Amino acid sequence: MLKGKIAVVTGGTRGIGMAIVKAYLSEGASVALFGSKPETVNKALEEVKAEYPNADVMGLSPNLSSYSEVEKAISEVKEHYGKIDILVNNAGISAMEPIYNYEPSAFDNIMDLNVNSVFYCSKAVAPIMKEQGGGVILNTSSMVSIYGQTSGCGYPTSKFAVNGLTKSLARELGKDNIRVNAVLPGVTRTDMVAALPKEMVDRIAATIPLGRVGEPEEVANAFVFLASDKASYITGATLTVDGATQV
Ligand code: NAD
Repeated sequence: MLKGKIAVVTGGTRGIGMAIVKAYLSEGASVALFGSKPETVNKALEEVKAEYPNADVMGLSPNLSSYSEVEKAISEVKEHYGKIDILVNNAGISAMEPIYNYEPSAFDNIMDLNVNSVFYCSKAVAPIMKEQGGGVILNTSSMVSIYGQTSGCGYPTSKFAVNGLTKSLARELGKDNIRVNAVLPGVTRTDMVAALPKEMVDRIAATIPLGRVGEPEEVANAFVFLASDKASYITGATLTVDGATQV
């Protein structure tokens, strides 16, 4: 579904991002994965190459909180591949602190990565996509962008902002044939969830109509579809992949 496409995936070293990287490679795309540290990027590249020996994949570790570093990394990808068709803004951190002991600096940090970096990467890639006649920007939001959550208010706040960026950029960039959509995963079995006691995961799963948490590959499938030409008239959408979770 993505033959010949060039994709950038931030937070591509593990979890949902790594599942997106692998799904894109199996659909024929070439991928530049971004991670926070060169060591984790190298480890991720090794894992990917072991599974997909013929994969065309590269890795970079720009500081996503710095627009100049983001711009440099995006230029490097463009130089290497000659174009960028897909940007997936996936890197993100969550929060659980109650407001009573929520450090203002922690709130700033979460907005910095979860919101500012989405703006930075989109801003850096948009002129490239415009010049080449179009492209796709996909953002990893969350089901908490619908429900909020009972502590760690910075996390849902950041994901509401991601939905806002998604809808606004879809309207702004439609004329340049750049589609912008968000995927809203529910509880997904990444390292974070895998580390929870089984009883806790079972308790969460029992509240989900499909009776289980999601797998990263199931979330990645939504990113494949939305990046593909099959989604050519879909922009400004927020697609939930959460087993019909109701909070
Ligand atoms: P994860 O912790 O497994 O992976 C996070 C990724 O972000 C990693 O690749 C990491 O390198 C990158 N990252 C973290 N801090 C960074 C930084 N400062 N600079 C650059 N990169 C950084 O998490 P995940 O569960 O795979 O989450 C991926 C996305 O999915 C996030 O945006 C998260 O909010 C969202 N999400 C996850 C779930 C879930 O249940 N796992 C549910 C809804 C939404």
